[in-house]
Amino acid sequence: MTETLVVVGGDAAGMSAASKAKRDDPDLEVVVFEKGEWVSYGACGLPYYVKGEIQSLESLVSVTPEEFREQRDIDLRTGHEVISVDPDERTVTAKSESETVVQSYDHLLLATGAEPVMPDIEGTEREGVYTLGSMSDGKELREYVARARDGETFSQPDRGPACQYLEDCTGPIGIVGGGYIGLEMAEALAEHEFEVHLFQRGERVLTQFSEQTSETVATHLREQDVVVHLESDVRELAGGNGGGGGDGNGGGDGEDGTGEVDSVVTDDESVSVDMVLVGTGVTPRTALAEAAGIECGETGAIATDAYCETNVGDVYAAGDCAEATHTVTGEPAYVPLALTANRHGRAVGQTVTGTPTEGGSIAGTAAVKTFDIEAARTGILDHDDARAAGFDPVTETVDAKSRAGYYPEGGTVTVTLCADRDSGRVLGASLVSEYGEGAVHRSHAIVGALEEGATVFDLENYDLAYAPPFNTTWDPVLVAAKVLS
Ligand code: FAD
Repeated sequence: MTETLVVVGGDAAGMSAASKAKRDDPDLEVVVFEKGEWVSYGACGLPYYVKGEIQSLESLVSVTPEEFREQRDIDLRTGHEVISVDPDERTVTAKSESETVVQSYDHLLLATGAEPVMPDIEGTEREGVYTLGSMSDGKELREYVARARDGETFSQPDRGPACQYLEDCTGPIGIVGGGYIGLEMAEALAEHEFEVHLFQRGERVLTQFSEQTSETVATHLREQDVVVHLESDVRELAGGNGGGGGDGNGGGDGEDGTGEVDSVVTDDESVSVDMVLVGTGVTPRTALAEAAGIECGETGAIATDAYCETNVGDVYAAGDCAEATHTVTGEPAYVPLALTANRHGRAVGQTVTGTPTEGGSIAGTAAVKTFDIEAARTGILDHDDARAAGFDPVTETVDAKSRAGYYPEGGTVTVTLCADRDSGRVLGASLVSEYGEGAVHRSHAIVGALEEGATVFDLENYDLAYAPPFNTTWDPVLVAAKVLS
């Protein structure tokens, strides 16, 4: 009898699983429920769409719904939200505008993703407060920019290297959160000549990276005229009727606090803004799983084994809704990023078609570009985290040339490398350089070391490629390993 794989969620994890399963077993019936209209989209490209480097939302889609249906023979049902899972009956119930469907499954994948976290502060419901988690969020933000820029066509977001003279800028705009989405959006919005204020609760932006990387990035943001407010605990997004900082003119606010936002209020100051983008992280979508008795781990995401299977047999979870095992600590971790979603989804596709495949661990490798700077991080950098995992961490930072000294171009790559003092095992790294000077690509060598459990002695002997336009004979990664060994 034909078996059925049911997938909930039609993006990276879900469509990777569906495509792989159908390719490996064309007889398998594959049904995908996606509550929205978009599938297989690259949310990672949204900041560049808002910036205007990418002209259409459609170009962020890798495979269209029609291609999935007609060329891959996948029963894709967009506009269908799965509202419950019954593991005893092995069914899911999905609702659309016109129907309620009960679908049985032999294998079920939950690939429901994550959604932006709204901080617990007043005023997040106000008009003019945005998040960037979905294609429709991206569309709304771009429409906002077009309106605010008086119908700008996006054909020429060209203001030179920075919004050099703040008095020429429009806005201002507040960004709450100094993570990668906040930083990418700072560039995107400044490019349209908005005055950008970035509010970060702690002492530094990019808290998952090293302190040196954070400092370099914050300095660069300031050079680009982004006003960086560090140690700024935002306590309210205020509107026309104030609540502690508004000027009383904005937005026709009602008592319910849903009028237009006009200022960001922190413990120390009130900054006037026309719009606020909140980028304070994401939370896994687990409600459907939890209601069905599927367990979540300590991270709050769905707990899975090495094959991405949950505590309920034949029910898998992959991508931003699920935990994975950390490469260095061997413990469950939650790092919601695109490659993990694709890789784990694909592994589930193979497993359910008869080739049990582990999803693989995650090293927490991430990269970001903002304005003219790039940064990457991988593994464990925080000494408390390293100690909790049983290591005795030691960290060194080196500044090294990105290309041969005599080569006409080049800059500095700053490498922060963390290792275990006794064994020399590489635990993690953070790298930063000017855009194009290779911080991100260099991080790949360190990811290799983490995957292999290599030591700094091993790493300093890695046979990395060398030629003057790319590096010095001893690449900055090798220099950092030598310093620690
Ligand atoms: P999602 O992409 O969240 O997809 C889940 C899908 O499930 C959604 O389409 C949702 O509508 C659907 N769904 C949820 N519940 C239901 C239900 N009950 N019924 C039916 N459908 C449902 N990652 C990187 O690695 N690098 C980057 O540079 C990067 N940049 C990013 C920039 C932005 C602005 C954003 C928002 C994300 C970025 N990411 C980046 C993260 C990356 O996009 C995610 O890791 C990836 O999309 C996760 O894929 P997923 O399939 O697990 O979940």
